[in-house]
Amino acid sequence: MNKIIDRITRIAQTNPDKVCYHNGDVTATYRDLDSQSDKIASFIQEKFLPQGSPIIIFGGQQFEMLVMFLGAIKSGHAYIPVDDGSDSDRIKQINNVAKPSLVLNWSDKDDFGIETPIIAKDELASVMNSDHDTYDATLSVGPDDNFYIIFTSGTTGTPKGVQISTNNLLDFVDWVDAEYKYTSQTHVMLQAPFSFDLSVFSIYPGLTNGATLEVLDKETAKNLAKLQQAIINTEATTWISTPSFFEMCLFFKDFNSETLPNLKKFIFCGEELTHVTADKLLKRFEGAELYNTYGPTENTVAITSIQITPQILDLFDRLPIGYLKKNMEHKLANVEEKDGEKVGELLVSGPDVSKGYLNNPVQTEKAFESIEGKTFYHTGDMVSENEDGLLFYKGRTDFQIKMHGYRIELEEVDSLLSNLEEVKQSCTVPLYNSKKQVNKIIAHIVLDEKYQDVDEKEMSRQIKEELKQNTMEYMIPNILKFVKQLPISKNGKIDRKALIGEVNA
Ligand code: AMP
Repeated sequence: MNKIIDRITRIAQTNPDKVCYHNGDVTATYRDLDSQSDKIASFIQEKFLPQGSPIIIFGGQQFEMLVMFLGAIKSGHAYIPVDDGSDSDRIKQINNVAKPSLVLNWSDKDDFGIETPIIAKDELASVMNSDHDTYDATLSVGPDDNFYIIFTSGTTGTPKGVQISTNNLLDFVDWVDAEYKYTSQTHVMLQAPFSFDLSVFSIYPGLTNGATLEVLDKETAKNLAKLQQAIINTEATTWISTPSFFEMCLFFKDFNSETLPNLKKFIFCGEELTHVTADKLLKRFEGAELYNTYGPTENTVAITSIQITPQILDLFDRLPIGYLKKNMEHKLANVEEKDGEKVGELLVSGPDVSKGYLNNPVQTEKAFESIEGKTFYHTGDMVSENEDGLLFYKGRTDFQIKMHGYRIELEEVDSLLSNLEEVKQSCTVPLYNSKKQVNKIIAHIVLDEKYQDVDEKEMSRQIKEELKQNTMEYMIPNILKFVKQLPISKNGKIDRKALIGEVNA
């Protein structure tokens, strides 16, 4: 049997009534998960689909999505989670690249504009309630077969399908067990859309340990009043989100350890965790464990981790992303000296590295390089490393610009801005001239609540003046634009690409 499935099945057998999914009024048990996914597996196997062909699973963050994920794996097919907020073009692009044999549709959408057979929600619901539950487990997804394929959210170009095998996922799950010690007592928050691999941080380490997934779905997150209600009443003991999502929740007055004494662990991934956010968290949740983790989808969710303690906050202005998993190797490419540090692109190799992009040998060859018989993935992230092996994120290679001959890391400018008391969040972007050269950088700034009513001209002068104290002149943004909020991508990260597009439209 597939090893992930095996672990979840054992929980369903020993503790069938344990709640695995909780979302508002909806709860479901491990028995429900196991028996309903058996039925889906049986239904899929009866269709005699081409062996190993992937299946698109379309929907939101409902329990039935998890049932279908496990059903697909049991039946022998990798799944491609596609969020029901995706537009038709994206669905068509994914369909063209992946050539799936089936779409399981847990939504009300009925026109996908694709030839692939689609099974509608009504039929799926009746399968889940049927008495068909025998399937051939010898056909289930094997150790090196794809378990899931997540399509990148690139705003331009064709999306790439990152293939993650059972073994990639198992290695990640074992690492999470060792680092964060999920148990059957754990209630882990599940907030990220299932098409974003941050959701995997909750789902599989949670389900293989008999934990309860505390789901905060996007319908709840869209409505501030509902979100506040859900956050203040959450039963989660472990928080998992992007820092941007957490920042949003900091608006809620009672979001603290007095209201939520059981919420003791916070794990962040997906974008830079700023010093200010970490500091606020440790003040509001005194004694809580806070972890910064880092990793691209191509490396199965996360590959570095560090606990951010008050000591770490004292030591570093820009927080480290942590230590690499012990069973992985890394190299720095195109290393340059910067402020006395060696900074280069992070290349990683090891059991969490994907075999490449589905049906896309050109992009696979570009990003995955064989060095001395090992496959190294080019992360596109610049890092530096200290003598203990602690890694520091220095920005994406594609957010590095040249202006008047100077190389500027846009994220470094934001990091400097975020250290100022006045700045809550910022996102700096380049403004190009007609020759496609950068001639200005513009910082979009959300001011801290205390400074909301200030004169913008005066505030602009003040911030530039403060930046001058410890920043090279050429890195000071030419224009400061004060905004109420920054654009957030579907995955809950600050959407720099969208702002670049807006500024240069
Ligand atoms: P994704 O593949 O969508 O999960 O995005 C992965 C990218 O997010 C990485 O390559 C980094 O650029 C960024 N990222 C993830 N975690 C962190 C972190 N802790 N700090 C800074 N950037 C991060």
